[in-house]
Amino acid sequence: MIINNFYKKIVDCVIIGSGPAGYSAAIYAARADLNPIIFSGFQPGGQLTSTTNVDNYPGFPLGVSGKVLMENCKKQAERFNAVIIHKSVSEVHFSHQKGEIHRIDLESKESIESKGIIIATGSRPKFLGIEKEKKLTGLGISFCATCDGFFHKGKNVAVVGGGDTALEEANYLSNICKNVYLLVRKNYFRASKALQNSILNKKNINILFGHRIIEIIGNHFLEGIKIINNNNQTSKIVLSGLFIAIGHSPNTDIFKKKLDLDKKGYILVEKGSTRTNKPGVFAAGDVQDPIYRQAITSAGSGCMAALDLEKYLNLEFKK
Ligand code: NDP
Repeated sequence: MIINNFYKKIVDCVIIGSGPAGYSAAIYAARADLNPIIFSGFQPGGQLTSTTNVDNYPGFPLGVSGKVLMENCKKQAERFNAVIIHKSVSEVHFSHQKGEIHRIDLESKESIESKGIIIATGSRPKFLGIEKEKKLTGLGISFCATCDGFFHKGKNVAVVGGGDTALEEANYLSNICKNVYLLVRKNYFRASKALQNSILNKKNINILFGHRIIEIIGNHFLEGIKIINNNNQTSKIVLSGLFIAIGHSPNTDIFKKKLDLDKKGYILVEKGSTRTNKPGVFAAGDVQDPIYRQAITSAGSGCMAALDLEKYLNLEFKK
């Protein structure tokens, strides 16, 4: 494989990922004259670009759309001359010693060398693992109500999951669809009280606690689902759309065997820091956070990663 040098010089800071963690890291790194280069990946702006209103990000008393929030973060990073490149990283070659250079290969067969790396690759939605789920994704099955809800205007849809994402999706869909079936496998929600309250009075949201999907019906496009309850009773629902919102997995495939990860694949960082087990490599946002996973905590850890990198370059890299 021929690898061309993307930049002729060695840079101080490469940021992989462009969600709230990546952009916050970029703003702080740029203001510290680290001239960050951000590889934004396949979904520039990260998962927030496919959510509806973000009501819990401080500073927006009326809420803000996830897309607008991310566009503003991007503009803010660019204001300080952060360079944002819409390319994806295919491989990383981490150095093992302090003061050594890392190499990042891009899918475009180019590479870049950097003294420091901030990983902010986020996470991706989980699949149920049921037959036909992958085949019918995009053909009635979706992971994003704001992206695909429109196709099911006035029709019946179902949402699977009992967390914040599922309730937000159900809420959004209830405004455009005829009926929304919300399938929760336990007998209670995991979502915040505020989100629970926001859906409880919606007449067209039918909450089915203790229900699981056992079959997806339809060959060329989704036609319905077969469900089972805790008493082993089964039933069928005719559907136009099925929205799966059952949590996320970290985007760490390219870091396997290169960084210390936990059992679920999240990057392990030192307590109270964003340091990974490789010198000059830091991780921020959902990719290292199996617990909080909020836009605000991601942004906070992006800031921490930039400060940690700045300190590393000043105190450890030169020694
Ligand atoms: P969560 O992990 O919080 O919830 C996942 C939900 O899916 C749970 O109800 C879980 O059930 C259910 N589930 C998991 N696997 C299956 C399965 N195989 N079949 C059926 N149900 C399943 O994920 P979310 O994506 O909802 O949220 C992730 C994080 O993002 C959270 O920290 C959340 O607070 C945050 N978030 C915040 C928002 C906001 O503040 N506005 C918006 C969206 C997300 P069980 O409980 O039984 O495990």
